[in-house]
Amino acid sequence: MFVDSHCHLDHLDLEPYNNNLDLALDAARERGVKGFLLIGIDFNKFPQLIEIESKYSDVWLSIGCHPLGNETHIDKDLLTKLASNAKVVALGETGLDYHYAAEKKEFQKTAFEAHMQVASDLQKPVIIHTRSAVQDTLDLMREYQDKVVGVLHCFTEDWQMAKTAIDMGYYVSLSGIVTFKNADALREVAKKIPAERLLIETDSPWLAPVPYRGKQNEPKYLPEVAKCVAELRDTTPEKIGETTTENFYRLFQPSC
Ligand SMILES: [Zn+2]
Repeated sequence: MFVDSHCHLDHLDLEPYNNNLDLALDAARERGVKGFLLIGIDFNKFPQLIEIESKYSDVWLSIGCHPLGNETHIDKDLLTKLASNAKVVALGETGLDYHYAAEKKEFQKTAFEAHMQVASDLQKPVIIHTRSAVQDTLDLMREYQDKVVGVLHCFTEDWQMAKTAIDMGYYVSLSGIVTFKNADALREVAKKIPAERLLIETDSPWLAPVPYRGKQNEPKYLPEVAKCVAELRDTTPEKIGETTTENFYRLFQPSC
């Protein structure tokens, strides 16, 4: 079995499923994907996100403010209130993206720090998006070392960054990007991540893995990520599923 540690279920185009999320989840379950972490990135949608989480015993929820979102202000009190909900297992996604939004650097840093503070206060893990912002991301993680752990999701940086994060207690999550033709450097990183710190995800609806590139990504494509990672690590997709599921439960401690 597999757990999709990062999917934006509320952003899926459900038209192929007659606008029924049940059917999209069933398609994934049929392929062995038995758990879904719904990444909430819109505070206004929180009631709707809670409703989805409540409907399915295999869907869990996080809440945060995405570094590439439209927000220009972070309401830390509201974040604390939403993240305190027992159904929320993690903060995020949050983080820094200087590749796509360098002009929002200062806001991203303020928002990221707010998530770290709340994660520390509530003792919940944090889900970090990082792109072309290695030093600033690691600096903030280091400030909260021993108070906050979490995952570098949809990882695309180098081994040095992965190793530094792992040494601080973090997990590293691989998405469909690892299957992309030009991702040789990332495939080298994928070979080195210690098994007990590895997670997998789709980041759906974005970044569909090979051979579905260009299509909407969905949790049902998670086995393609597992298959690719398994080949790189000389093991089986089943074993990758087993290990990453165990890791998921250890990090997020979702109720069953
Ligand atoms: Zn995401």
